[in-house]
Amino acid sequence: MAEWQTRWTQNPVGLTPRVGSTPTSGTKDKNLILQRKMWAIGILIPFLIGLWVAMDARKRGYSPLKAFGWFLGVWLLLIVFLPLYLILRSRSAGKASPGKDTYVCPYCGRLYKGKVLFCPYCGQRLEQDDSL
Ligand SMILES: [Zn+2]
Repeated sequence: MAEWQTRWTQNPVGLTPRVGSTPTSGTKDKNLILQRKMWAIGILIPFLIGLWVAMDARKRGYSPLKAFGWFLGVWLLLIVFLPLYLILRSRSAGKASPGKDTYVCPYCGRLYKGKVLFCPYCGQRLEQDDSL
């Protein structure tokens, strides 16, 4: 059997065109189990990602209904809704962090809010440009 033929007959998705020899019942059963596993994974992974999205949406202040909507959207149409959610998420995250009254500590690089004399993270004294 040529190499491309063996590849086709080992295809776990079950789109096996019967080239060359017909598969025995044993390999057919194996294919069926593999096929079922693929289906289970194909449903389970979007389901888990949908759960993560819903929990993340709730943390970000979405209403339970909206979070559930995102969950359903991601579960049913992962390819469409997951990138969409991640784009929206990064946009809202960009809005929240460095903004008004937020500064970067020159010593540890973390963000802190308000004018403080010492960094709340590393404790280094911070020079304020417009102090006094
Ligand atoms: Zn610091």
